[in-house]
Amino acid sequence: KLRDEESVLRKLRNEVQELKGNIRVFCRVRPTLEGELDQKANIIFPDAEADKKEITVQGPEQVSSLGKVSTTNHAFNFDRSFGPSSQNAEVFEEISQLVQSALDGYNVCIFCYGQTGAGKTFTMSSSDGMIPRAVEQIYTSAQALEEKGWSYTMKGQFVEIYNETINDLLGKAEELDKKKHEIRHDMQRCKTTITDITEVPLDTPETMESLMQRAQKNRSVAATKANERSSRSHCVFILNLVGVNAVTGERSEGVLNLVDLAGSERLALSGAEGQRLKETQSINKSLSCLGDVIAALGQGKEGGHVPYRNSKLSYLLQFSLSGNSKTLMFVMVSPLQAHLQDTLSSLKFAKKVNNTHIGTARRQAKVKD
Ligand code: ADP
Ligand code: MG
Repeated sequence: KLRDEESVLRKLRNEVQELKGNIRVFCRVRPTLEGELDQKANIIFPDAEADKKEITVQGPEQVSSLGKVSTTNHAFNFDRSFGPSSQNAEVFEEISQLVQSALDGYNVCIFCYGQTGAGKTFTMSSSDGMIPRAVEQIYTSAQALEEKGWSYTMKGQFVEIYNETINDLLGKAEELDKKKHEIRHDMQRCKTTITDITEVPLDTPETMESLMQRAQKNRSVAATKANERSSRSHCVFILNLVGVNAVTGERSEGVLNLVDLAGSERLALSGAEGQRLKETQSINKSLSCLGDVIAALGQGKEGGHVPYRNSKLSYLLQFSLSGNSKTLMFVMVSPLQAHLQDTLSSLKFAKKVNNTHIGTARRQAKVKD
């Protein structure tokens, strides 16, 4: 009887652990850049000895009627926080397990959220960022798994979601903005396809490089059409991984989604007209919808109503944000006093996302006992 209880407890603990691992939030503060050195920074970062979870944002100085100077500090805790001196290699080390689980058949989503200029693209898509590092790791691991009988096919897609429209970043430049792409869900197999989208087999590390260049070129073509488009669109790299084991007959299907989100800076609707108004509405809608979806999942509403359909982004990622999936949100912030308002609103958004999973774990534990 005792042993039974013990195993139930252990199982429960594992489940809670697993749930806690479902949605995680990391924070990264970019360094002060050259040209900003005369500006005041307002993020206090704990020393190296600390737990690497906490960050504190210092509010503006207030002078009381008696001449006393004070500031209000806002402290936040995340699963991990990276300071301004952190390197991309160090950041990747913390996510390599998660990347690995896509090879084991999980659907993985990693988002970069934050205002324009906070370091999303630097972290995600630069030449030593997460995308090339993830692909490299997957190659290496897939090769190692060959010894155990596994052979993997890897295919990459690169899409942009701009004004609630999907564009193919690996397609022909002249077809960008012209071809229509629809999201199709196969509810039985929990699989998503995008109609008419270019899918590139990634059989060598070199293909990755040319793929990134192609996407980059298409993005810049798009950028000349609409000002600052890269900060006003979401960019999603989708890596489909199918593994078959010739020895055991096992099969695994995983997806790794790496998402560079549109800038989260609060965009005023007032004064915006035409194209600008449409962009602003699309971004506000899709980012708040993403927050709603994650919050609904965190509250254990899966199976009930989760508002995936409210935006193209959450609809596209539906199967990677539910069921057998793992989600990590990076919140990127600038260290500058000048960006205080956007920094605080990004951190609050992230806190909301982060708190939800703890709620689920607790509720789940209650139901069981
Ligand atoms: P975003 O994509 O969020 O708009 P970027 O990634 O383009 O922001 O970053 C803005 C600028 O800051 C770029 O010049 C980038 O190279 C630089 N930058 C961002 N994060 C870092 C970092 N961790 N270390 C060094 N430079 C960074
Ligand atoms: Mg960017």
